[in-house]
This record gives sequence, C-alpha cells and structure tokens, in this order.
Amino acid sequence: MDVASHMAFPVHCPVCGKAGVVACQACLDSLISPKPPKCLLCGKSFPCPSHPASPALLFGALHDGKARDLVLRLKYDGYKALGREMGRALARNLRRPEGELLTPVPLHKRSERPYNQARALACGISDVWKIPTEEGLKWVVDVEPQTKLGASSRRMLPKDALEWRGLPLNGKTVIIVDDVCTTGSTLSCAACAVEKAGGFPVAAIAWSVSL
Ligand SMILES: [Zn+2]
Ligand SMILES: [Zn+2]
Repeated sequence: MDVASHMAFPVHCPVCGKAGVVACQACLDSLISPKPPKCLLCGKSFPCPSHPASPALLFGALHDGKARDLVLRLKYDGYKALGREMGRALARNLRRPEGELLTPVPLHKRSERPYNQARALACGISDVWKIPTEEGLKWVVDVEPQTKLGASSRRMLPKDALEWRGLPLNGKTVIIVDDVCTTGSTLSCAACAVEKAGGFPVAAIAWSVSL
C-alpha cells in the first residue's frame, strides 16, 4: 500500500478488525469457498454440453455477506490495496487454470473511479501464480456501468463491446479477471475480444458471483 492511501485510510482487516493490516490472509481465505467451475455462458456446470467452447468461470464466493461487503469497500471506498490481497487469496485457494496471461475487465469509458478494481485483483493473482497481467482490453462502446442497468439490458451488451488493444496474443491462453460476475455478459464480451485478437480465453475469474 502506498503512503498516501495509508494515511487516508488507516488500515485494519475488514473481516476481523485487526489494526495495521490491509486484511489478514486467514480472514480472506475464510471467505473463499471454492466451488466447481461454471460455464461462463449459461452458469451451469463446466464443461457444458450446450457450450463446449465456453471458458470456465472460477470464483471465490457467492456475492453475499462479507464477500460482497469487501467488493463494495474495494470499489467505492478507495480501498485499492484490498484488491490485491483479495486477488492473492483467490489464487491461493482456486485451482490454477492453464493460462499464460491475466487480463482485467477495464473500467467503463465514463467511470470516475481512480483505479480499476479488477486490475488490483489481477495483480494479486499474478503475484501468486507468477503469470503476467496485461491491460489489453478496451471498451469500444459507451455502456453504462452495470450498477445503473437492469438485468435485462445487461444481457443485451453487444458482443463486440470490448476490443483487445494490447500486445499481439499469437495463440496465448488468457485468463480474464473481474470483481463480480452477475450475468456473465461482460466476461463473455471480454472472451470474444480475446478470441478475435488471436488468443484463447481459457478461463474467467471473479471474486464473487451472483449468477
Ligand atoms: Zn482479519
Ligand atoms: Zn453453458
């Protein structure tokens, strides 16, 4: 954590309240209950007979209780360092998929957030799994942040809403990272963009899901 954010937000574990730590490893680990991966496209179990090409969706928790509180704190309270710790906890507790590169879902074009919480998570996962993170995805359409939309309009996200503008993928296997997966629509768009750019989206990872 950098000095400025330390001063603005005196740290304590958001789970047990212990002072002087961004979050205890054990507390974060206790929030993660690894479940079998889901099909990113329909939310059923993976591999999915209806969508054999769909990436696996891995996640740490259901979007509820403390797991949800942490996401809100990370997104809206400027508690960036927590994201990296949450990412590390995910990587410690989830089965590592094949993947050479991590890429976070980018902030929406009109987002006023000072940092991308999905990137913070990806950096934490990178720390543990020792694979690089690249912010290659960009929104090409001006979509409303999901919190302002109803579930039905979220499902209507155009397939080409995201584009890969990073280094050439040349057949690389890619893991996409986001904080929350609600309908799978954003992560599916990200998978399309990676595929279009010549990469293989093998998995998507979210801190929590409310599928
Ligand atoms: Zn704690
Ligand atoms: Zn499916």
